[in-house]
Amino acid sequence: MLTDLHSHSTRSDGRVSPDELVSLAVQNSVARLAMTDHDLVFFAEYEPSFSLMLEIISGTELSCTWAKQTIHVLGLNMHYDKREAIEQHCSALSEGREKRALIIADKLEKLGMLGAYNGALEQAEGGQIGRPHFARWMVNAGYVKDMSAAFKKYLGQGKVGDVKSEWPHISEAVAAIRASGGTPVLAHPKQYRMTNTKMRALITDFKSMGGQGLEVSNGYQPADQVAYLTTLANQFGLAISAGSDFHGPATPYHRPGGFTPLPENGTPIWELWN
Ligand code: AMP
Ligand code: MN
Ligand code: MN
Ligand code: MN
Repeated sequence: MLTDLHSHSTRSDGRVSPDELVSLAVQNSVARLAMTDHDLVFFAEYEPSFSLMLEIISGTELSCTWAKQTIHVLGLNMHYDKREAIEQHCSALSEGREKRALIIADKLEKLGMLGAYNGALEQAEGGQIGRPHFARWMVNAGYVKDMSAAFKKYLGQGKVGDVKSEWPHISEAVAAIRASGGTPVLAHPKQYRMTNTKMRALITDFKSMGGQGLEVSNGYQPADQVAYLTTLANQFGLAISAGSDFHGPATPYHRPGGFTPLPENGTPIWELWN
């Protein structure tokens, strides 16, 4: 059974609606899907019609910080009857995201990019504003040649638009997921560009807070990285998780279900759910 535990829709920075995401997942043989929009939770109970097409695992991707860096923690399989904790956490994050968008816009305007807030707001089309919406606006306005240049120059890790003041500490994200009966998974560890020593320190902390899984395969992640991360997960007694991190058809992870398969020598995260 193909299980994709990381995907995005227009509720956050994905390019397809939740309906389209589910259709694309079915077309790509995904039988079990977690919709993990940034800082928003999705339960099957929100849209019962989806469950007629595939199994929906409740999901979210929470923004948080650890050692002054932005980290993403996936929350998987929260229980609908315990949803209060995760919903409260997400509503605080949504407010933080709104404040952060104003701060990012202010910083970009100081660099001469006028109208940044309204530009990003328009790109978000009613969904939650994120850095990709600023990036897309910057491309359209001619300030940069593509999204990747926007992140490289202005929005990526350590750049002026990488505003993390609104994100809670990782321990709060893990606690909210656990309080709702969910499974916290450290998302895409390789994207943080940490030394192996720092990565081990992060995983040690994550585990001691109640973290339970490591996302060892994110999109078409090279097989050697998947193998390395699985070894780490095994050493720390964490289960392993995989997902496409699908954001839309014209993006690098261009289809739901598109990711390097989980290796055989780890404990798949869903074994914790039986
Ligand atoms: P935010 O949630 O507002 O902090 O924005 C982070 C999101 O930006 C990630 O989830 C990705 O979807 C996207 N992103 C990060 N780095 C890049 C990049 N270099 N190029 C394009 N999109 C990126
Ligand atoms: Mn994203
Ligand atoms: Mn992420
Ligand atoms: Mn993601």
